[in-house]
Amino acid sequence: MIKELHNKLVNKKITAVELAESYFARIKEKDGEIGAYLTLTEDLALEQARKVDEKIFRGEKIGIMEGIPIAIKDNLCIMGVRTTAGSKILDNYIAPYDATVIKKLKEAGAVILGKTNMDEFAMGSSTETSIYQKTRNPLDLERVPGGSSGGSAASIASEEAVCALGTDTGGSIRQPASFCGVVGLKPTYGRVSRYGAIAMASSLDQIGPFGMTVEDTAIVLSVISGQDKMDATCAQSPTKDYTNYLTGDIKGIKIGIVKEYFEGLNGNIKKIVDDTIEKYKKLGAEIKEISLPHSQYSLAIYYMIMPCEVSSNLARFDGIKYGLRINDKQSDSNESGDFPQTLLETYLDSRKYGFGDEVKRRIMLGTYALSAGYYDAYYKKAQKVRALIKQDFEKVFEEIDFIFSPTAPEMAFKFGEKTDDPMKMYLSDIYTITANLVGIPAISFPIGMISEKGDSSKKLPIGGQLMGKWFDEEGLLNAAYTFEINK
Ligand code: GLN
Repeated sequence: MIKELHNKLVNKKITAVELAESYFARIKEKDGEIGAYLTLTEDLALEQARKVDEKIFRGEKIGIMEGIPIAIKDNLCIMGVRTTAGSKILDNYIAPYDATVIKKLKEAGAVILGKTNMDEFAMGSSTETSIYQKTRNPLDLERVPGGSSGGSAASIASEEAVCALGTDTGGSIRQPASFCGVVGLKPTYGRVSRYGAIAMASSLDQIGPFGMTVEDTAIVLSVISGQDKMDATCAQSPTKDYTNYLTGDIKGIKIGIVKEYFEGLNGNIKKIVDDTIEKYKKLGAEIKEISLPHSQYSLAIYYMIMPCEVSSNLARFDGIKYGLRINDKQSDSNESGDFPQTLLETYLDSRKYGFGDEVKRRIMLGTYALSAGYYDAYYKKAQKVRALIKQDFEKVFEEIDFIFSPTAPEMAFKFGEKTDDPMKMYLSDIYTITANLVGIPAISFPIGMISEKGDSSKKLPIGGQLMGKWFDEEGLLNAAYTFEINK
Protein backbone atom coordinates (compact mmCIF):
# COMPACT_ATOMS: atom_id res chain seq x y z
CA MET A 1 0.00 0.00 0.00
CA ILE A 2 2.64 2.60 1.00
CA LYS A 3 4.97 1.44 -1.78
CA GLU A 4 2.19 1.66 -4.38
CA LEU A 5 1.30 5.18 -3.29
CA HIS A 6 4.98 6.11 -3.27
CA ASN A 7 5.31 4.92 -6.87
CA LYS A 8 2.23 6.89 -7.88
CA LEU A 9 3.75 10.03 -6.35
CA VAL A 10 7.12 9.48 -8.00
CA ASN A 11 5.52 8.75 -11.37
CA LYS A 12 3.33 11.84 -11.03
CA LYS A 13 0.10 9.86 -11.26
CA ILE A 14 -1.10 11.83 -8.26
CA THR A 15 0.26 14.77 -6.26
CA ALA A 16 0.76 14.62 -2.50
CA VAL A 17 -1.80 17.41 -2.10
CA GLU A 18 -4.35 15.47 -4.14
CA LEU A 19 -3.65 12.37 -2.10
CA ALA A 20 -4.12 14.23 1.19
CA GLU A 21 -7.29 15.88 -0.10
CA SER A 22 -8.70 12.54 -1.18
CA TYR A 23 -8.21 11.24 2.38
CA PHE A 24 -9.88 14.29 3.92
CA ALA A 25 -12.80 13.83 1.50
CA ARG A 26 -13.04 10.20 2.59
CA ILE A 27 -12.92 11.22 6.27
CA LYS A 28 -15.70 13.74 5.72
CA GLU A 29 -17.79 11.09 4.03
CA LYS A 30 -17.13 8.25 6.49
CA ASP A 31 -16.11 9.54 9.88
CA GLY A 32 -19.53 10.73 11.00
CA GLU A 33 -20.40 7.04 11.11
CA ILE A 34 -17.07 5.59 12.30
CA GLY A 35 -15.83 8.24 14.75
CA ALA A 36 -12.15 7.40 14.32
CA TYR A 37 -10.87 10.99 14.58
CA LEU A 38 -11.06 13.51 17.40
CA THR A 39 -9.14 16.29 15.65
CA LEU A 40 -8.17 16.84 12.02
CA THR A 41 -4.92 18.60 11.16
CA GLU A 42 -5.73 19.71 7.62
CA ASP A 43 -3.45 22.75 7.55
CA LEU A 44 -0.46 20.80 8.80
CA ALA A 45 -1.18 17.97 6.35
CA LEU A 46 -1.48 20.22 3.31
CA GLU A 47 1.65 22.14 4.27
CA GLN A 48 3.60 18.87 4.46
CA ALA A 49 2.06 17.65 1.18
CA ARG A 50 2.95 20.87 -0.64
CA LYS A 51 6.58 20.51 0.40
CA VAL A 52 6.67 16.99 -1.02
CA ASP A 53 5.09 18.15 -4.28
CA GLU A 54 7.67 20.91 -4.61
CA LYS A 55 10.46 18.36 -4.22
CA ILE A 56 8.95 16.11 -6.87
CA PHE A 57 8.43 19.12 -9.12
CA ARG A 58 12.12 20.05 -8.75
CA GLY A 59 13.03 16.51 -9.79
CA GLU A 60 14.40 15.56 -6.35
CA LYS A 61 14.22 12.05 -4.95
CA ILE A 62 11.64 11.50 -2.25
CA GLY A 63 11.74 9.09 0.70
CA ILE A 64 9.29 6.24 1.12
CA MET A 65 7.10 8.04 3.71
CA GLU A 66 7.04 11.39 1.92
CA GLY A 67 3.47 12.38 1.15
CA ILE A 68 1.98 9.31 2.87
CA PRO A 69 -1.14 10.07 4.97
CA ILE A 70 -0.93 8.86 8.56
CA ALA A 71 -3.24 9.08 11.60
CA ILE A 72 -1.93 9.60 15.16
CA LYS A 73 -3.40 8.38 18.43
CA ASP A 74 -4.45 11.29 20.61
CA ASN A 75 -1.94 10.57 23.36
CA LEU A 76 1.03 11.54 21.18
CA CYS A 77 1.99 15.21 21.25
CA ILE A 78 1.99 17.24 18.06
CA MET A 79 3.15 20.82 18.52
CA GLY A 80 0.27 23.28 18.36
CA VAL A 81 -2.35 20.55 18.14
CA ARG A 82 -4.96 19.62 20.75
CA THR A 83 -3.92 16.42 22.52
CA THR A 84 -6.58 15.02 24.86
CA ALA A 85 -5.65 11.37 25.55
CA GLY A 86 -9.43 10.84 25.41
CA SER A 87 -9.84 12.67 28.74
CA LYS A 88 -11.79 15.67 29.92
CA ILE A 89 -8.83 16.75 32.04
CA LEU A 90 -6.85 17.46 28.85
CA ASP A 91 -9.78 18.86 26.89
CA ASN A 92 -8.06 22.19 26.32
CA TYR A 93 -4.46 20.98 26.17
CA ILE A 94 -2.46 22.14 23.15
CA ALA A 95 0.86 20.32 22.99
CA PRO A 96 3.81 22.75 23.09
CA TYR A 97 6.23 20.31 21.44
CA ASP A 98 6.45 17.32 19.10
CA ALA A 99 6.85 13.79 20.39
CA THR A 100 10.04 12.22 18.99
CA VAL A 101 8.00 9.91 16.73
CA ILE A 102 6.17 12.95 15.34
CA LYS A 103 9.41 14.81 14.78
CA LYS A 104 10.75 11.80 12.89
CA LEU A 105 7.56 11.45 10.83
CA LYS A 106 7.64 15.14 9.92
CA GLU A 107 11.30 14.90 8.92
CA ALA A 108 10.43 11.89 6.79
CA GLY A 109 7.76 13.96 5.03
CA ALA A 110 4.71 12.01 6.25
CA VAL A 111 1.37 13.78 6.00
CA ILE A 112 -0.37 13.83 9.39
CA LEU A 113 -4.14 13.74 8.92
CA GLY A 114 -5.25 14.07 12.53
CA LYS A 115 -5.61 12.63 16.03
CA THR A 116 -7.56 9.46 16.68
CA ASN A 117 -9.98 8.47 19.41
CA MET A 118 -8.84 6.26 22.26
CA ASP A 119 -9.81 4.96 25.68
CA GLU A 120 -9.19 7.60 28.35
CA PHE A 121 -5.43 7.65 29.02
CA ALA A 122 -5.23 4.37 27.03
CA MET A 123 -7.10 2.45 29.73
CA GLY A 124 -9.48 0.03 28.11
CA SER A 125 -9.99 -2.56 25.39
CA SER A 126 -12.88 -1.09 23.42
CA THR A 127 -12.35 2.71 23.13
CA GLU A 128 -15.58 3.05 25.15
CA THR A 129 -13.87 4.94 28.00
CA SER A 130 -13.13 7.92 25.73
CA ILE A 131 -15.13 10.81 27.10
CA TYR A 132 -15.59 12.21 23.59
CA GLN A 133 -17.27 9.71 21.31
CA LYS A 134 -17.80 6.13 20.31
CA THR A 135 -15.62 4.66 17.62
CA ARG A 136 -17.41 2.00 15.61
CA ASN A 137 -15.81 -1.06 14.11
CA PRO A 138 -15.82 -0.37 10.35
CA LEU A 139 -16.55 -4.05 9.67
CA ASP A 140 -19.65 -4.09 11.88
CA LEU A 141 -21.00 -0.82 13.20
CA GLU A 142 -22.69 -2.46 16.19
CA ARG A 143 -19.35 -3.56 17.52
CA VAL A 144 -16.34 -1.97 19.17
CA PRO A 145 -13.06 -1.50 17.27
CA GLY A 146 -11.06 -2.78 20.24
CA GLY A 147 -8.87 -0.53 22.33
CA SER A 148 -7.31 1.47 23.54
CA SER A 149 -6.02 2.53 20.08
CA GLY A 150 -9.47 1.89 18.56
CA GLY A 151 -9.52 5.11 16.53
CA SER A 152 -6.18 4.34 14.87
CA ALA A 153 -7.21 0.76 13.96
CA ALA A 154 -10.59 1.93 12.67
CA SER A 155 -8.97 4.68 10.58
CA ILE A 156 -7.07 2.01 8.64
CA ALA A 157 -9.96 -0.43 8.29
CA SER A 158 -12.27 2.34 7.01
CA GLU A 159 -9.57 3.61 4.63
CA GLU A 160 -9.52 6.97 6.38
CA ALA A 161 -5.72 6.72 6.66
CA VAL A 162 -2.97 4.67 5.04
CA CYS A 163 -1.18 3.92 8.28
CA ALA A 164 -1.39 5.03 11.90
CA LEU A 165 0.42 5.18 15.21
CA GLY A 166 -0.90 3.75 18.45
CA THR A 167 0.45 2.92 21.88
CA ASP A 168 0.49 -0.49 23.50
CA THR A 169 0.76 -0.97 27.27
CA GLY A 170 -0.99 -4.32 27.48
CA GLY A 171 -2.27 -4.95 23.97
CA SER A 172 -3.71 -1.64 22.80
CA ILE A 173 -2.18 -1.87 19.33
CA ARG A 174 -2.56 -5.61 18.75
CA GLN A 175 -6.08 -6.21 20.05
CA PRO A 176 -7.73 -3.42 17.99
CA ALA A 177 -5.69 -4.54 14.97
CA SER A 178 -7.17 -8.01 15.48
CA PHE A 179 -10.74 -6.66 15.85
CA CYS A 180 -10.47 -4.44 12.76
CA GLY A 181 -8.65 -6.91 10.48
CA VAL A 182 -5.45 -4.88 10.11
CA VAL A 183 -1.80 -5.30 11.14
CA GLY A 184 -0.44 -3.82 14.38
CA LEU A 185 3.05 -4.03 15.85
CA LYS A 186 4.23 -3.48 19.41
CA PRO A 187 8.00 -3.02 19.19
CA THR A 188 10.52 -4.16 21.80
CA TYR A 189 10.50 -1.93 24.89
CA GLY A 190 13.14 0.69 24.06
CA ARG A 191 13.00 0.32 20.29
CA VAL A 192 10.93 3.49 19.86
CA SER A 193 11.31 6.66 21.92
CA ARG A 194 8.39 7.39 24.25
CA TYR A 195 9.25 11.08 24.54
CA GLY A 196 6.04 13.01 23.96
CA ALA A 197 3.72 10.06 24.55
CA ILE A 198 1.33 10.79 27.42
CA ALA A 199 2.42 8.12 29.87
CA MET A 200 0.14 5.43 31.19
CA ALA A 201 2.53 2.86 32.69
CA SER A 202 6.09 3.78 31.81
CA SER A 203 7.70 0.34 32.12
CA LEU A 204 5.11 -1.15 29.75
CA ASP A 205 4.21 1.58 27.22
CA GLN A 206 5.50 1.40 23.64
CA ILE A 207 4.53 3.33 20.52
CA GLY A 208 4.00 1.30 17.37
CA PRO A 209 2.53 1.27 13.87
CA PHE A 210 -0.72 0.08 12.28
CA GLY A 211 -1.03 -0.70 8.58
CA MET A 212 -3.02 -2.66 6.06
CA THR A 213 -0.01 -4.90 5.47
CA VAL A 214 3.02 -6.14 7.39
CA GLU A 215 5.25 -4.27 4.96
CA ASP A 216 3.53 -0.98 5.80
CA THR A 217 4.18 -1.48 9.51
CA ALA A 218 7.83 -2.29 8.70
CA ILE A 219 8.13 0.95 6.73
CA VAL A 220 6.66 3.07 9.54
CA LEU A 221 8.78 1.31 12.19
CA SER A 222 11.92 2.10 10.17
CA VAL A 223 11.04 5.79 10.39
CA ILE A 224 9.98 6.05 14.05
CA SER A 225 12.54 3.79 15.76
CA GLY A 226 16.03 4.56 17.00
CA GLN A 227 17.98 6.07 19.83
CA ASP A 228 16.78 9.31 21.40
CA LYS A 229 18.55 11.48 23.93
CA MET A 230 15.17 12.65 25.21
CA ASP A 231 14.24 9.14 26.42
CA ALA A 232 16.79 7.42 28.63
CA THR A 233 14.96 4.08 28.28
CA CYS A 234 15.34 4.16 24.51
CA ALA A 235 17.91 1.59 23.37
CA GLN A 236 21.12 2.60 21.70
CA SER A 237 20.40 0.57 18.62
CA PRO A 238 20.98 1.96 15.15
CA THR A 239 17.97 2.57 12.92
CA LYS A 240 17.34 0.01 10.24
CA ASP A 241 15.28 -0.36 7.13
CA TYR A 242 13.10 -3.25 8.25
CA THR A 243 11.74 -3.86 4.76
CA ASN A 244 15.17 -5.29 3.83
CA TYR A 245 14.40 -8.28 6.01
CA LEU A 246 11.06 -9.18 4.38
CA THR A 247 12.38 -12.11 2.35
CA GLY A 248 9.31 -14.37 2.45
CA ASP A 249 11.60 -17.23 3.48
CA ILE A 250 11.14 -18.76 6.92
CA LYS A 251 12.52 -22.22 6.33
CA GLY A 252 13.94 -23.67 9.52
CA ILE A 253 12.55 -21.12 11.93
CA LYS A 254 11.17 -22.51 15.16
CA ILE A 255 7.74 -21.47 16.39
CA GLY A 256 6.62 -22.29 19.92
CA ILE A 257 3.01 -23.02 20.80
CA VAL A 258 2.27 -22.42 24.47
CA LYS A 259 0.30 -25.32 25.84
CA GLU A 260 -1.24 -23.26 28.66
CA TYR A 261 -2.72 -20.77 26.18
CA PHE A 262 -5.32 -22.98 24.60
CA GLU A 263 -7.39 -24.17 27.53
CA GLY A 264 -10.93 -22.89 27.17
CA LEU A 265 -10.33 -21.16 23.83
CA ASN A 266 -13.43 -20.79 21.62
CA GLY A 267 -13.54 -23.70 19.13
CA ASN A 268 -13.92 -21.53 16.04
CA ILE A 269 -10.87 -19.48 16.93
CA LYS A 270 -8.93 -22.61 17.83
CA LYS A 271 -9.61 -23.98 14.34
CA ILE A 272 -8.22 -20.86 12.65
CA VAL A 273 -5.20 -20.96 14.94
CA ASP A 274 -4.62 -24.63 14.09
CA ASP A 275 -4.93 -23.87 10.37
CA THR A 276 -2.38 -21.09 10.74
CA ILE A 277 0.03 -23.45 12.51
CA GLU A 278 -0.40 -25.97 9.65
CA LYS A 279 0.31 -23.21 7.16
CA TYR A 280 3.50 -22.29 9.00
CA LYS A 281 4.60 -25.92 8.85
CA LYS A 282 4.04 -25.96 5.09
CA LEU A 283 6.10 -22.80 4.78
CA GLY A 284 9.02 -24.59 6.41
CA ALA A 285 8.69 -23.68 10.08
CA GLU A 286 9.29 -26.18 12.82
CA ILE A 287 6.52 -26.20 15.45
CA LYS A 288 7.31 -27.01 19.09
CA GLU A 289 5.05 -27.22 22.08
CA ILE A 290 6.41 -25.09 24.91
CA SER A 291 5.44 -24.19 28.44
CA LEU A 292 5.40 -20.77 30.09
CA PRO A 293 4.36 -21.82 33.58
CA HIS A 294 4.29 -18.35 35.15
CA SER A 295 2.18 -16.82 32.38
CA GLN A 296 -0.94 -17.75 34.30
CA TYR A 297 -0.08 -14.89 36.66
CA SER A 298 0.39 -12.31 33.90
CA LEU A 299 -3.03 -10.72 34.08
CA ALA A 300 -2.87 -10.40 37.87
CA ILE A 301 0.66 -9.00 37.75
CA TYR A 302 -0.21 -6.53 35.01
CA TYR A 303 -3.23 -5.27 36.92
CA MET A 304 -1.01 -4.70 39.95
CA ILE A 305 2.04 -3.06 38.33
CA MET A 306 0.17 -1.00 35.74
CA PRO A 307 -2.13 0.83 38.26
CA CYS A 308 0.90 1.64 40.45
CA GLU A 309 2.62 3.32 37.51
CA VAL A 310 -0.67 4.96 36.50
CA SER A 311 -1.15 6.46 39.96
CA SER A 312 2.34 7.91 39.83
CA ASN A 313 2.16 9.16 36.21
CA LEU A 314 -1.26 10.73 36.55
CA ALA A 315 -0.33 12.65 39.69
CA ARG A 316 0.79 15.48 37.42
CA PHE A 317 -2.80 16.17 36.34
CA ASP A 318 -3.77 18.35 39.26
CA GLY A 319 -5.65 21.24 37.72
CA ILE A 320 -2.57 23.45 38.07
CA LYS A 321 0.04 22.29 35.59
CA TYR A 322 -2.12 21.00 32.75
CA GLY A 323 -5.60 21.12 31.35
CA LEU A 324 -8.85 21.42 33.21
CA ARG A 325 -8.92 23.51 36.37
CA ILE A 326 -12.01 23.71 38.51
CA ASN A 327 -11.63 26.97 40.38
CA ASP A 328 -14.36 29.36 39.50
CA LYS A 329 -18.02 29.75 38.76
CA GLN A 330 -17.37 29.92 35.02
CA SER A 331 -16.41 26.31 35.01
CA ASP A 332 -19.36 24.30 33.79
CA SER A 333 -17.72 21.01 34.74
CA ASN A 334 -18.59 21.25 38.39
CA GLU A 335 -22.21 20.25 38.62
CA SER A 336 -22.34 20.46 42.40
CA GLY A 337 -22.15 24.22 42.44
CA ASP A 338 -19.62 24.03 45.30
CA PHE A 339 -16.53 25.84 44.25
CA PRO A 340 -13.10 25.13 45.66
CA GLN A 341 -11.91 27.57 48.28
CA THR A 342 -8.37 26.24 48.76
CA LEU A 343 -5.54 24.87 46.65
CA LEU A 344 -6.24 21.35 47.90
CA GLU A 345 -9.88 21.65 46.90
CA THR A 346 -8.81 22.81 43.45
CA TYR A 347 -6.65 19.69 43.10
CA LEU A 348 -9.40 17.43 44.33
CA ASP A 349 -12.21 18.92 42.27
CA SER A 350 -10.15 19.12 39.08
CA ARG A 351 -9.33 15.43 39.37
CA LYS A 352 -12.84 14.53 40.41
CA TYR A 353 -14.45 16.14 37.38
CA GLY A 354 -11.53 15.70 35.00
CA PHE A 355 -11.05 11.93 35.22
CA GLY A 356 -13.50 9.20 34.27
CA ASP A 357 -14.40 6.13 36.37
CA GLU A 358 -11.87 3.67 34.90
CA VAL A 359 -9.01 6.13 35.38
CA LYS A 360 -10.06 6.81 38.97
CA ARG A 361 -10.38 3.08 39.67
CA ARG A 362 -6.79 2.50 38.57
CA ILE A 363 -5.38 5.53 40.40
CA MET A 364 -7.03 4.33 43.61
CA LEU A 365 -5.82 0.75 43.17
CA GLY A 366 -2.29 1.90 42.44
CA THR A 367 -2.15 4.40 45.28
CA TYR A 368 -3.37 1.75 47.67
CA ALA A 369 -0.85 -0.86 46.49
CA LEU A 370 2.03 1.61 46.76
CA SER A 371 1.18 2.89 50.22
CA ALA A 372 3.35 2.11 53.24
CA GLY A 373 2.75 -1.37 54.55
CA TYR A 374 1.28 -2.62 51.25
CA TYR A 375 4.17 -1.88 48.89
CA ASP A 376 6.10 -5.04 49.81
CA ALA A 377 3.06 -7.27 49.79
CA TYR A 378 1.71 -6.10 46.44
CA TYR A 379 3.99 -4.04 44.21
CA LYS A 380 7.29 -5.63 45.17
CA LYS A 381 5.87 -9.13 45.02
CA ALA A 382 4.37 -8.42 41.61
CA GLN A 383 7.78 -7.25 40.35
CA LYS A 384 9.32 -10.50 41.57
CA VAL A 385 6.74 -12.57 39.69
CA ARG A 386 7.32 -10.38 36.64
CA ALA A 387 10.98 -11.43 36.79
CA LEU A 388 9.92 -15.09 36.88
CA ILE A 389 7.67 -14.60 33.85
CA LYS A 390 10.62 -13.03 32.04
CA GLN A 391 12.86 -15.95 32.97
CA ASP A 392 10.34 -18.35 31.37
CA PHE A 393 10.69 -16.44 28.12
CA GLU A 394 14.48 -16.33 28.29
CA LYS A 395 14.46 -20.07 28.68
CA VAL A 396 12.10 -20.87 25.80
CA PHE A 397 13.86 -18.45 23.48
CA GLU A 398 16.95 -20.64 23.77
CA GLU A 399 15.02 -23.27 21.82
CA ILE A 400 12.61 -21.38 19.63
CA ASP A 401 12.49 -18.12 17.65
CA PHE A 402 8.84 -17.05 17.94
CA ILE A 403 5.71 -17.80 19.90
CA PHE A 404 2.36 -18.02 18.15
CA SER A 405 -1.10 -17.55 19.69
CA PRO A 406 -4.37 -15.81 18.91
CA THR A 407 -4.15 -12.06 19.61
CA ALA A 408 -7.37 -12.02 21.61
CA PRO A 409 -9.65 -14.75 22.93
CA GLU A 410 -12.59 -13.39 20.89
CA MET A 411 -13.74 -11.42 17.88
CA ALA A 412 -14.93 -7.80 18.19
CA PHE A 413 -17.69 -7.61 20.79
CA LYS A 414 -20.79 -5.41 20.94
CA PHE A 415 -20.97 -1.98 22.59
CA GLY A 416 -21.81 -2.21 26.26
CA GLU A 417 -21.11 -5.94 26.45
CA LYS A 418 -18.29 -5.53 28.98
CA THR A 419 -18.58 -2.01 30.32
CA ASP A 420 -20.28 -3.05 33.56
CA ASP A 421 -17.72 -5.68 34.45
CA PRO A 422 -14.08 -4.51 34.44
CA MET A 423 -12.82 -8.09 34.91
CA LYS A 424 -14.49 -9.19 31.68
CA MET A 425 -12.89 -6.28 29.87
CA TYR A 426 -9.47 -7.05 31.38
CA LEU A 427 -9.62 -10.63 30.10
CA SER A 428 -9.50 -9.33 26.50
CA ASP A 429 -5.77 -8.83 27.08
CA ILE A 430 -4.95 -12.31 28.26
CA TYR A 431 -2.66 -13.09 25.27
CA THR A 432 -1.16 -9.66 24.78
CA ILE A 433 -0.06 -8.32 28.17
CA THR A 434 2.81 -10.76 28.70
CA ALA A 435 4.80 -9.21 25.85
CA ASN A 436 4.63 -5.85 27.66
CA LEU A 437 5.59 -7.34 31.01
CA VAL A 438 8.73 -8.89 29.52
CA GLY A 439 9.41 -6.19 26.91
CA ILE A 440 9.49 -8.33 23.76
CA PRO A 441 8.16 -7.32 20.33
CA ALA A 442 4.83 -8.73 19.16
CA ILE A 443 2.70 -8.36 16.05
CA SER A 444 -0.96 -9.01 15.27
CA PHE A 445 -2.01 -9.85 11.72
CA PRO A 446 -5.25 -11.19 10.22
CA ILE A 447 -5.42 -15.00 10.07
CA GLY A 448 -9.07 -15.63 9.25
CA MET A 449 -12.70 -14.71 9.74
CA ILE A 450 -15.38 -16.22 11.93
CA SER A 451 -19.04 -15.61 12.60
CA GLU A 452 -20.25 -15.38 16.16
CA LYS A 453 -22.02 -18.72 16.24
CA GLY A 454 -19.95 -20.46 13.64
CA ASP A 455 -22.86 -20.24 11.18
CA SER A 456 -23.29 -18.31 7.94
CA SER A 457 -23.99 -14.96 9.68
CA LYS A 458 -21.63 -12.04 9.28
CA LYS A 459 -17.98 -12.94 9.59
CA LEU A 460 -15.44 -10.84 11.43
CA PRO A 461 -11.65 -10.98 11.53
CA ILE A 462 -9.44 -12.86 13.97
CA GLY A 463 -5.83 -11.82 14.51
CA GLY A 464 -2.88 -14.07 15.11
CA GLN A 465 -0.06 -12.93 17.36
CA LEU A 466 3.62 -13.67 16.96
CA MET A 467 5.96 -12.70 19.78
CA GLY A 468 9.70 -12.56 19.12
CA LYS A 469 13.00 -12.19 20.92
CA TRP A 470 14.08 -8.82 22.31
CA PHE A 471 15.04 -6.54 19.38
CA ASP A 472 14.29 -9.16 16.72
CA GLU A 473 11.72 -7.02 14.89
CA GLU A 474 13.29 -8.04 11.59
CA GLY A 475 12.67 -11.75 12.15
CA LEU A 476 9.23 -11.10 13.60
CA LEU A 477 8.12 -8.96 10.68
CA ASN A 478 9.41 -11.51 8.18
CA ALA A 479 7.56 -14.37 9.90
CA ALA A 480 4.27 -12.43 9.75
CA TYR A 481 4.98 -11.23 6.21
CA THR A 482 5.65 -14.74 4.95
CA PHE A 483 2.26 -15.90 6.22
CA GLU A 484 0.54 -12.85 4.75
CA ILE A 485 1.88 -13.28 1.23
CA ASN A 486 1.06 -17.00 1.21
CA LYS A 487 -2.44 -16.70 2.68
N1 GLN B 1 -6.55 -2.99 27.72
C1 GLN B 1 -5.40 -2.86 28.55
C2 GLN B 1 -5.69 -1.95 29.71
O1 GLN B 1 -6.78 -1.45 29.80
C3 GLN B 1 -4.23 -2.40 27.75
C4 GLN B 1 -4.23 -0.94 27.51
C5 GLN B 1 -3.10 -0.50 26.66
O2 GLN B 1 -2.37 -1.30 26.09
N2 GLN B 1 -2.92 0.81 26.61
O3 GLN B 1 -4.84 -1.72 30.52
